[in-house]
Amino acid sequence: MTKFECIQQNSIFNKNLSKYNISFNVQSYTTFGLCILLLITGITSFKLHNSKTEKIKTIILDAGHGGEDLGCMGKHAIEKDISLQVTLKLGAYIKAYLPDIHIIYTRESDIFVSLSDRTKIANDSFGDLFLSIHCNAVRKQTKIKGAETYVYGGTEESSELARRENKMIYLDKGQSELFALDPETPAGNIKFQAYQQAYLQESIKLAGHILQQIGGHTKRPVRQVKQDQFIVLKTTNMPSTLVEMGFVSNPEEELYLLSEHGQDEMAKSIFLGLKAYLEEKD
Ligand SMILES: [Zn+2]
Repeated sequence: MTKFECIQQNSIFNKNLSKYNISFNVQSYTTFGLCILLLITGITSFKLHNSKTEKIKTIILDAGHGGEDLGCMGKHAIEKDISLQVTLKLGAYIKAYLPDIHIIYTRESDIFVSLSDRTKIANDSFGDLFLSIHCNAVRKQTKIKGAETYVYGGTEESSELARRENKMIYLDKGQSELFALDPETPAGNIKFQAYQQAYLQESIKLAGHILQQIGGHTKRPVRQVKQDQFIVLKTTNMPSTLVEMGFVSNPEEELYLLSEHGQDEMAKSIFLGLKAYLEEKD
């Protein structure tokens, strides 16, 4: 990547900020610095998709949590169950309306899949897009509601949400052996940050379309496209977006997300967002 391309990327990035309702804390020198770092260190051994022109053939659908990792809890809701149901419904929509796309699930039942295994499934399958489906919750707060979408990045400090979503790394006993490069080491950090810097534009577009469709199709509140330090987004070698469908700590939203109707509507909205992204790309 040349210096010119790095600067161009930043200008596209800034345009995207105004197009979508996006909250970011990224400084423009980050991309430039990474490009220079890559040129200096010659870290080019990993393949980056040319995500602007390559056709999307394989999509990885990642239902958050599973098995012993319950995710967050409402009064009745368990995140791992809702994320699985919506992910399977989303897969069914893709299969029915975009039959040329190959779908790979990180899990299709109530099993524990480590973060490193999720990454490995995605990267080994040469996925073109990664979509991770979750629910949110805030302790002792019942009023907060609304869907959010995330791309990787932001500040060095991960938020409470990212720490919670990343928690399963501690349940993952073979983590360091499974990652070809540990994302927490300096070399691993550079490699994985480079992945997501390269795909940031596409990840933002996908996250923006999904959030727009959730708001438009469900007529429910939506929050923002945000950046945060999710490990599962950081380590996938493809554009990646994480969807927080709503807050199970909000009683009304919990009931909606528990209902068959709510789960179907949410799956359809995410599908419509994905479809809009693919149409814009063509
Ligand atoms: Zn989650």
